[in-house]
Amino acid sequence: AEMFGQLTGGLEAAWSKLKGEEVLTKENIVEPMRDIRRALLEADVSLPVVRRFVQAVSDQAVGTGLIRGVKPDQQLVKIVHDELVKLMGGEVSELVFAKSKPTVILLAGLQGVGKTTVSAKLALYLKKLGKSCMLIAGDVYRPAAIDQLVILGNQVGVPVYAAGTAIKPAEIARQGLQEARQKNVDVVIMDTAGRLQIDKAMMDELKDVKRVLNPTEVLLVVDAMTGQEAAALVTTFNVEIGITGAILTKLDGDSRGGAALSVKEVSGKPIKLVGRGERMEDLEPFYPDRMAGRILG
Ligand code: GDP
Repeated sequence: AEMFGQLTGGLEAAWSKLKGEEVLTKENIVEPMRDIRRALLEADVSLPVVRRFVQAVSDQAVGTGLIRGVKPDQQLVKIVHDELVKLMGGEVSELVFAKSKPTVILLAGLQGVGKTTVSAKLALYLKKLGKSCMLIAGDVYRPAAIDQLVILGNQVGVPVYAAGTAIKPAEIARQGLQEARQKNVDVVIMDTAGRLQIDKAMMDELKDVKRVLNPTEVLLVVDAMTGQEAAALVTTFNVEIGITGAILTKLDGDSRGGAALSVKEVSGKPIKLVGRGERMEDLEPFYPDRMAGRILG
């Protein structure tokens, strides 16, 4: 609950105002709704998302009426919980595998978000599911990133296809894919170059790589610390290159939760996995209901 500490506290203020009430009414939910709105905004959830959320919760709260044995504050907790789950996409969004080998997963994202780390984490995650994997090092602008991927690949016991920095990422992708077919691996994961900001060169390069790989999954890696900006990024990448989902990293940091809560609603694309630490084991599916439970403390 560390990460959402502030949000959890803000929401608790809302329920506490309903102590001693018999039923939820239009009048007595005004203050709690204001608290919920404030708590979400402070957690860096984007404003349109907050508006829709608050509207949906208050509509239901007023229409709930008297439920035997359930106190109004508990009713509101339940309504908020269910709306949070819905907001985050409802069900867990599983990774999709291709009908014929190999499944190709293309990773994109800005520099420093944890893309290289995620590449290796994802390989380990899939290995544990019984899939053989291969990594392709496509960050040709940072030789250190290639070295890092080779080291991490070694660490998790997954081969890395690296071809240096002198050839274009799309060509590396083509060669890597060919090698993966020869090795008959189940899943190929390609790490790509990030930039500090979105620019046309990066998007063009990603489009070229995507054309060559014809990936089953195109996952945008986003840093949870960027708050509601994460949702805007997912939207932009989706419009530009077409993505299938996002991976949210650094959930172990002191992010306020806005990214986890806004991405699906703003971009229409689900968060599929989350990273919660620097260790290779720290990657897991994104479970909206567990996340909602964690937020509500
Ligand atoms: P890239 O530039 O996107 O490839 O980013 P890197 O994979 O090199 O990661 C940048 C930094 O973030 C490294 O120091 C990683 O150890 C760290 N990092 C990546 N994912 C996580 C995470 O989930 N939690 C934490 N705390 N640190 C992470």
